[in-house]
Amino acid sequence: MTKPVVDLTIVGSIGIDTIETPTEKREEILGGSVSYACAAASFFAHAGMVGVVGTDFPAEFRAAWSQMNIDLEGLQTVEGKTFRWGGVYHENMDNRDTLFTDLGVFETFSPELPEDYKDAPYLFLGNIHPALQLHVLEQTRDPKFVLIDTMDLWINIAKDDLAKVIGKCDMLTLNESEAQLYTGEHSPTQAAKKLLELGPEYVLIKKGGNGSMLFTKEDVFLLHAYPLDDFKDPTGAGDTFAGGLMGALAASGKTDKEAIRQAMVYGSVAASFGVEEFSLERLVKLDRDEIEIRVAEFKEMCRI
Ligand code: AMP
Repeated sequence: MTKPVVDLTIVGSIGIDTIETPTEKREEILGGSVSYACAAASFFAHAGMVGVVGTDFPAEFRAAWSQMNIDLEGLQTVEGKTFRWGGVYHENMDNRDTLFTDLGVFETFSPELPEDYKDAPYLFLGNIHPALQLHVLEQTRDPKFVLIDTMDLWINIAKDDLAKVIGKCDMLTLNESEAQLYTGEHSPTQAAKKLLELGPEYVLIKKGGNGSMLFTKEDVFLLHAYPLDDFKDPTGAGDTFAGGLMGALAASGKTDKEAIRQAMVYGSVAASFGVEEFSLERLVKLDRDEIEIRVAEFKEMCRI
């Protein structure tokens, strides 16, 4: 068989964000789950982006993706306005409120995979409506490993669709609060048990600055977040983490538990760089050597 053009297909939202933190406000910056995820994955693997933008989408944002060698064949440009989202962070930077959501062309988005992407061995179903995630999955040809992400909105309004697609994936990732919302369980271990019953072999619960927990039916693996002196904007950290993880896993060619644990370290380090600046501003300047140096430091911190 010939090698697929992309190792990893990623679908998700593309947004133009307005973000307020306690010290800074930034308007009309590049965001969206697939944007963060592809940027992080691009350090390790050839990622193909599946998403939609409007005709108002700035050329420099597209250029930033191209500079990172992200494949854009799966990117649709549709007459109308790009999805816009605004959020404001509270003093502690942990909690945030959504200020506005203007769906624009995202409202009628139907993700279609270019022929080349259908054979990609790795697939990351980023945060979009679960019916659309299923539509993407159904277009693929026997991927080796599928990760799915979601958010509270879909748990509240489309839980049946979500359960159906989760059951067809190898791994589910969600925040601790989303795991609680889905299962009604406060304990992450109890929540993970229920989520594993939906079908995935792995459940990855993210705990923001406190790291993440990888559950299987047999065991759990704990990884702290890389400790940063300071960070500017946590938007998209979960997508950066998951994108980095999937990129590193795709580069390994493996899908076993040990490979996933190693890939989590890369995801975590990618996310730690991502939050140092707004949008993709730190990731576009980052190189693989800086990642490897931080990975080595991080592994030393975790050694017992
Ligand atoms: P996160 O910090 O992981 O929640 O990701 C934030 C990114 O998700 C932002 O860049 C937004 O553009 C995007 N976003 C916000 N709301 C939604 C939504 N309802 N559906 C899809 N993407 C969204």
